[in-house]
Amino acid sequence: MVSFVPPASPPPSVLPAGLPPELRSLARDLERHGFRLRWAPPPLARAYGQYVPASRTLWVAPIAFDLGIGPQTFLHEAVHAVQSCPDGRLTPIGWRLSLDPVVRQEIGGILTTRYHHGSRLLEQEAFALQGQDDAVARLRIALKARCRPSG
Ligand SMILES: [Zn+2]
Repeated sequence: MVSFVPPASPPPSVLPAGLPPELRSLARDLERHGFRLRWAPPPLARAYGQYVPASRTLWVAPIAFDLGIGPQTFLHEAVHAVQSCPDGRLTPIGWRLSLDPVVRQEIGGILTTRYHHGSRLLEQEAFALQGQDDAVARLRIALKARCRPSG
């Protein structure tokens, strides 16, 4: 009999090593506003990241960091988290961001093939933000404006 022994992995609440300092502090800010972060495979099979509004939980799969897209995935899902404030329904933050035409075209395909939040506008914001130099600063401002600190 051969049994499969899964490799030891850190508990899902431990920040991944591939997360830059700026994103670590954003992660703490999100937690301070009542979001739960799980550095583990999301409930949705084969997704790199997922935000679940009902439980205010943001998931980023460890494999995203192995592939080098961990930071972008985290930023993308963090946008959805902030979009869900104040009442759990996702609404656009209202950024005016330029989006690469190629990416803009790809979003159409992504919406039909993968789970996202079903709105082109919401996805455009998430994809556009993840490519901005000032992504973290913008997210932090939106987080403070829309979401309430917990506790
Ligand atoms: Zn999305």
